[in-house]
Amino acid sequence: MPITANDIKRKSWLEVSSDSDFPIQNIPFGVFLTKENIVTVGTRIGDFAIDLGALQQLNYFEGIELTDDMFMQDTLNDFISDGQKTWRLVRNRIAEIFDEQNSKLRDNTKDKDIIIFKMEDVEMQLPVLIGDYTDFYSSKEHATNVGKMFRDPENALLPNWLHIPVGYHGRSSTIVPSGIPVHRPMGQTLPNGETTPVFGPSRSVDFELETAFITTDVNIMGENIHVTEAEDYIFGMVLLNDWSARDIQKWEYVPLGPFLAKNFASSISPWIVTMDALEPFRTKGPKQEPTPLPYLQQKGKHSFDINLEVAIQPENSEATVISHSNFKYMYWTMSQQLTHHTSNGCRVNSGDMMGSGTISGPTEDSFGSMLELTWGGKNPIKLKDGTERKFINDNDTVIMKGHCQNGHVRIGFGEVSSKLLPPFVRK
Ligand code: CA
Repeated sequence: MPITANDIKRKSWLEVSSDSDFPIQNIPFGVFLTKENIVTVGTRIGDFAIDLGALQQLNYFEGIELTDDMFMQDTLNDFISDGQKTWRLVRNRIAEIFDEQNSKLRDNTKDKDIIIFKMEDVEMQLPVLIGDYTDFYSSKEHATNVGKMFRDPENALLPNWLHIPVGYHGRSSTIVPSGIPVHRPMGQTLPNGETTPVFGPSRSVDFELETAFITTDVNIMGENIHVTEAEDYIFGMVLLNDWSARDIQKWEYVPLGPFLAKNFASSISPWIVTMDALEPFRTKGPKQEPTPLPYLQQKGKHSFDINLEVAIQPENSEATVISHSNFKYMYWTMSQQLTHHTSNGCRVNSGDMMGSGTISGPTEDSFGSMLELTWGGKNPIKLKDGTERKFINDNDTVIMKGHCQNGHVRIGFGEVSSKLLPPFVRK
């Protein structure tokens, strides 16, 4: 089915500024709460939130087979479960409805009042009920940097890394949307030079610049999927700040890997940008050497050119951009990650989330964590207000943005922005 929603010539009758992440060619999916306390599935064009539940009730999806309450829900799981054909039909239809040539809704003030909201009047929710969350570790630069600091500079990359898209099972219970503040975690650490651990607030709270993909129902238990089919099961992507407490991580991660250093919070951008919208930004990833095992081999372009940046904004001060990276630096592709994930028969469901792993580029200003940017705290970063950071301070807001751009169109994610609060105090 052609993706007519991607037509670069199309303009919307809704106003969209030229630097917007959300032109009519994007049409992401999310869930929002209106001022009347109604939760609905929606999309966004420019700075307008569009109620898809209302669009469906007013018959604008006529001819597309959808369950009656498909969009009057507080998650996207059912819609995602319906599969790629439905996503395309709905996205194509939304593009038609908001095309400047189409007068049907454009000239219907009564319907417009029910369907369209200003972004400032809605509150974005978590878009999916995330059943399972897996986090990969697929940037060679990041894995090498961390290996140098945590283990052995001579053998930074462990021997399995070039053969396996390494990952671990995270927790979904503390995944929150942009805007929700996060408390500095308490935990057990081993202070430098000591032999006895202590318990207290983490002293090295860090962000991890990541993206994540959301899957549809992929397989039944026991079934694996072929690497050439994997992309069909990926609904779309979000930005992910995978908050990390480096001092807790350093003490706890041997031998089973990340645990409490990682599961106190993971923040995501609220609009899921579909793989269909990202299609024009396909690109080749880095050469994989040695050649992966046959089940992971793929030809063609399976990475995406997504510009990413991170800023720190201290309280009552302006933000300083501290890193510029790009998703295309990732060594393992999303399809290889998903294929590997099901290669043993592990079941993957609609609404599962898979983190990319920290996305570090080759240069020092493209690293995706404070751990790397300050090299373990040795080289603090200077912010615009003159203060320095080794890691994230209480009341700092970490802002991640991402967008794709070619000569015709800009498709973006908006942002994931979250403030780090002092440790939680029980009242
Ligand atoms: Ca991570």
